[in-house]
Amino acid sequence: MSRSLSASSQELLELAYIGLGANLGDLALTLRQALQALAVLPQSRLVAVSSAYRSAPIEAGGPDYLNAVAALETSLPPQDLLQALQAIELQHGRERPYINAPRTLDLDLLLYGQASILTASLTVPHPRLGQRAFVLHPLLELSPGLSAPGLGILADLLPAVAEQPIERLSLSLID
Ligand code: ADP
Ligand code: MG
Repeated sequence: MSRSLSASSQELLELAYIGLGANLGDLALTLRQALQALAVLPQSRLVAVSSAYRSAPIEAGGPDYLNAVAALETSLPPQDLLQALQAIELQHGRERPYINAPRTLDLDLLLYGQASILTASLTVPHPRLGQRAFVLHPLLELSPGLSAPGLGILADLLPAVAEQPIERLSLSLID
């Protein structure tokens, strides 16, 4: 007798990369709590977290950022994942008073497998992924050979962001 696979084993797991950033409040605490929230998302498994990086704000004033990238294996559809990320941002008091305003927590969906997505609320790969040292360095720390649709091999983009101040910290964001 043939048996159908359970729903969960039929689900397609994708590897999504999430960019985390904060420059208001207790930055390390916020990123740690955000990672804990990512770790308990439904249909998902947190598989890797980069080092923490300190970076200067780009096209904006305000304090330095603490940044990191997390790799999440997930069967949540990308739009649902974005909503989940925005819910975590809101739990941390995220407000959007103006473009590039300082933020308690920013969670960006950087990559969703090798998918290209363009809707009113979601662009993947994230539109500024290829131009930001604070995204490229932690991404490449997790996956040195990574490439992305429309961007090619990400390591090849590093020379273009070499002027952006960024420092890898020894601070640990996970237990
Ligand atoms: P920033 O671009 O500085 O991260 P916000 O976090 O305020 O700005 O995001 C603004 C909007 O960007 C969100 O309302 C969201 O719908 C949209 N957006 C489009 N693509 C993405 C993505 N890949 N990840 C996160 N937000 C995205
Ligand atoms: Mg964002």
